This record gives sequence, C-alpha cells and structure tokens, in this order.
Amino acid sequence: MDGETSPVLAIVSLEATDPCFWSFGEFSGIGPMAGVSIVMGRNGSDRDNMLFAVYMTESDRVPSYLKPVFEKYFFRIAICVRCLRPMDDMRIGSFRGPDGIGRKKFDGLACSCGHPIWSMTDSELFTAQYAANRAEYAWRRKQRMNSAGGKHSQKEIEDILAIQKGRCIYCNRRFGKRIHWTKDHILPVIDGGANWALNIVMACKSCNSRRGSIPFRTFCRLLSPEQNETVLVNLVNRIVAIGRAGLTGEAYAVFEEGLALHDPRDPRYLDIVRRSDLARKNASVNKLLPRSGSLILRWGLAHTRKELANLGNRCEQTSGSKRQSNHGRTSLGKRSKR
Ligand SMILES: [Zn+2]
Ligand SMILES: [Zn+2]
Repeated sequence: MDGETSPVLAIVSLEATDPCFWSFGEFSGIGPMAGVSIVMGRNGSDRDNMLFAVYMTESDRVPSYLKPVFEKYFFRIAICVRCLRPMDDMRIGSFRGPDGIGRKKFDGLACSCGHPIWSMTDSELFTAQYAANRAEYAWRRKQRMNSAGGKHSQKEIEDILAIQKGRCIYCNRRFGKRIHWTKDHILPVIDGGANWALNIVMACKSCNSRRGSIPFRTFCRLLSPEQNETVLVNLVNRIVAIGRAGLTGEAYAVFEEGLALHDPRDPRYLDIVRRSDLARKNASVNKLLPRSGSLILRWGLAHTRKELANLGNRCEQTSGSKRQSNHGRTSLGKRSKR
C-alpha cells in the first residue's frame, strides 16, 4: 500500500533536511521489488553518478535472496554521499519521514556514518538492479514451485560426460589433468535452476565462469557455429538418453525453462561481445538454438542417425574453432532452411 508513497515522502523529507541530496525533480522510483525499493535520482551538479536510497518495504531487513546481490553488486561499489565510504554491510537505519502523513519512520540501508544516500555510476546501478530483478524473479518462481532442488547421481554425471565425449560443452576442449570439468546449469541457479541431471551440462572451469548466469542459448550464440552444432547434437542425445531412462515432469520443466530464456541485453553477455572480436563475429552469424526440447528433437529427427554420428565424430576430431567439414555445411544449410 505504501510501497511507493513512503519512499517518495521520505525523499521529500530528506530533500528538505539534507543539503547533499539531489534536486527533487529528477528522481524516479524502481520497484518495489519483493521487500526492497530503490529510489534514485541525480544530483544537479554531478552528471556522472546516480544517487539512490534503498528502502525496506516489507520487513526491517534485506530479504535473504537479495543478500548475494548486495554483496556482489553494491558492496565496495556504492559510495556514501556524505562520508564517501563504500558500502560494506547491510546496516539498516531508521529514518524520519514527514510528520502527519503515512509512516513516520522508514527503514533503509545506511552507511556507518548514518547517512542513507549512496552513489554509483549509471551502468553500475543498472547492472545491480538487473541482478536484483533476476534474483527476485527466481525467488518468486521458487515460491511457486516450492520444490526446487532436484538431484542427480554420479552415474548420470558419467553418462553426460560420455555423451559430451569428455569435452567441454562450450569450448570443446577435452577434459583431463589440466582441464577440469564442472557442472554447469542450463537454467542458472540464480534463476531457480535445479540440480536435475537434465539441467546439467559439463563445462570447463573457464567457460563456466565466463558464462556466469547468462541464459544458455544467449551464451551459445558467442560460440563458433560448429560448436553450436555440437551443442545441439549433445542435447539431442541427452533427450534421447533420458527418454529411455524415464524422466520427471519437474526436471523437464526446468530444462524447458532454461532453454526458453534468452536475453541479448544481459550485461555480462554485452560485456563479452564488447571485448571479444571473435565472440562478436559469432554472435552476428549464429542463429539461436531451438527454444525447447521438442524443437531440438525435431532438429535431431531431421538428421539421420548416421548424420548425427558423423557430426559427433567431426566434433571429436576437430576443435571447435577449426574449419568445418563439407558435411557440416550441408547440415547447417538444412537447419537454416527450416
Ligand atoms: Zn557515510
Ligand atoms: Zn570450455
């Protein structure tokens, strides 16, 4: 009820009592998200930085699902406008609002000096908000699903490794003494991705951390066209293998949700595109992978078993960045006509 009103009134009050607050005409409210509202604006004299305050809207604490977001995107980055110390904890201050209307007090993130107004650059704040929104989305989904988690066996991991021919799903390098495999989630954990085998692919450490929580298909667009085909072949084989072993509806739902996600505005994705000529080139020529399991299977069915096997072997012989064979060309052509 007072999700918007109180912060606004609070700002009016801060504005009246605090000389380092921004000009009232330039603030805008974000949220409220579940439990937190960020109100931001600009100080007339400083065009490079956004000023903002973080208010609790539902309780007197930052919700636990947002804590990792604050630690990663606000700590050591957000600067107190009054004493210039960086934010380094989630200290909550109680601030006085205007008398006579709504709540008289509100709780917000405060500096150790007691001040509730912080500063960051536009892009830092954008990135942080983006992460907060995603965390909130995942949290809401979890509330809905109420059964996230999932599990897989060692045998299932071995099966996945076998299907991937012992290679990283993203860079195609062979796992070994120097290149360790890690479990990477198709639907990222931050988005509520569960530990079902079907949601897991094997990736080397560096690809895993490079991807972070970029949506699966969005990230695959940065890989070579050949590697995209390898990913497809792997996914087809995964679905076929699971079909034989049986599968729960929930695990499949997570897999589908992971495939459905695509976001070319993901800041991390944009950052890779900006820094890497090769990734940028790949992103401009690759088509997105199919957005669902059934579309992937359909792609698989359009290729004969033999063709798939050949594709698989080619992937085994050549590294992802090498020239593709004529065979691969034919298949690519086929796919783009679909
Ligand atoms: Zn301070
Ligand atoms: Zn890799």
